[in-house]
Amino acid sequence: MRCLAALLSAALLATPALAQGPTTPGGKEALTLLSKGIAFRTVAGQGQVPAYAAYLKAQLVAAGLPTDAIEFVAMGDTGYLVARYAGRDRAAKPTVLLGHMDVVAADPADWTRDPFTPVVEGGYVFGRGSLDNKGDVSILIATLMQLKRAGWVPARDVVLLLTGDEETTMATTRAAAERFKNAALVLNADAGGGTLDEAGKPTVYGLQAAEKVYGDFRLTITDAGGHSSRPGPVNAIARLAAAVGRIAAYRFPPEQNAITKAYLAGSAANNPGPTGDAMRAFAANPKDTAAADLLSSKPEFVGQVRTTCVPTQFNGGHAPNALPQRAVANINCRIFPGTSRASIQAKLTSLIADPAIRIELIDNGTIEAGASPLEPRVLAAVRAAVAKRAPGTPVIPAMEAGATDSMHFRARGIPAFGIGSVFMKPSNEFAHGLNERLPVASFDAGVAWWEALLRALA
Ligand SMILES: [Zn+2]
Repeated sequence: MRCLAALLSAALLATPALAQGPTTPGGKEALTLLSKGIAFRTVAGQGQVPAYAAYLKAQLVAAGLPTDAIEFVAMGDTGYLVARYAGRDRAAKPTVLLGHMDVVAADPADWTRDPFTPVVEGGYVFGRGSLDNKGDVSILIATLMQLKRAGWVPARDVVLLLTGDEETTMATTRAAAERFKNAALVLNADAGGGTLDEAGKPTVYGLQAAEKVYGDFRLTITDAGGHSSRPGPVNAIARLAAAVGRIAAYRFPPEQNAITKAYLAGSAANNPGPTGDAMRAFAANPKDTAAADLLSSKPEFVGQVRTTCVPTQFNGGHAPNALPQRAVANINCRIFPGTSRASIQAKLTSLIADPAIRIELIDNGTIEAGASPLEPRVLAAVRAAVAKRAPGTPVIPAMEAGATDSMHFRARGIPAFGIGSVFMKPSNEFAHGLNERLPVASFDAGVAWWEALLRALA
């Protein structure tokens, strides 16, 4: 039940060991693309993104895309790939298909299988990037290759845009978003997706239309220090700890937008009892603080009803027998879209209420972006695709707690939706973690998924 990329021959795919492998030409092509793709170590600093991009370009050219329609824009040791699939109206604003080529680092010593050797086993493809995001990127490219060979011409240009540092600084995303600031619509393969229950039955499809805004605030206090046998009135650690305690005890007011309202209303049925009741109540009335408080007691829902700021790091002192000269804490905030980081900083400053403590926003490249207004045609297309693939499964708009490339487009007012093709069990999701995997069932279904959505939306 083990299969390396080099062994993905037609003969091997015909063996019973891979009987559950893809059966459609597009699905098979997607599996090959992913198997080859995993072997490129596109971790930050490894310089492998250009080679992976060159491989992808060669496949698209082989399928009929003109060489000059595909461009790799180098930026340092990474870069972004642009493949322009010509539409009927070349002057119309393009539809951008977004994904990323880089992956999070993986230490082979910690993995059960080598993270950069694709392994098909037990119905999954294992390897770093198999889920985030090379799986859906491979499926999307296989779909475009199939459509090109079939002679499909979209109404307007479709631009496949694959970034090269989504997991780190997003500098390539920023450059690409500036270049395609005229995009009509962004469809992101790196967000959204279906959830399966433990029996493998689809329960819900999450259409990602918003993200929390990320913000790290560093709190610093310095003091003259001295001998610990001679304590004075000020202790840097104690003072900072007290301020951090006030922040930890504070609860930001509940908030709601069209996405979270639809998410909570739509999720109530899957959460019977008081949780579902609170979802329904808060969706109907954003001033229902009792409902918001009940949802805030659940880690999986607290982010959907308010901004959260939590202490994540604390350092202080330099010797066991010295008064601390310095103490530093990090407060990590996940801010409701539409609320500025400056206003959060002002709130934290008032909670700290100590002029000796300095507070600063750490620039990690993330920016403020609002939610994408739900476009009825996008919702309708996703609903149709879900109805075909998993009849009866509800489609629920979702606001993600993390950040993706979409924020750089949303910040420019371009509607961006995460509509990834993968359906899986939460217990099998190991993006960024050990033994990352993608269900083999994703390939055939994923190509049909993207074909339906591209035909409907592009
Ligand atoms: Zn990703």
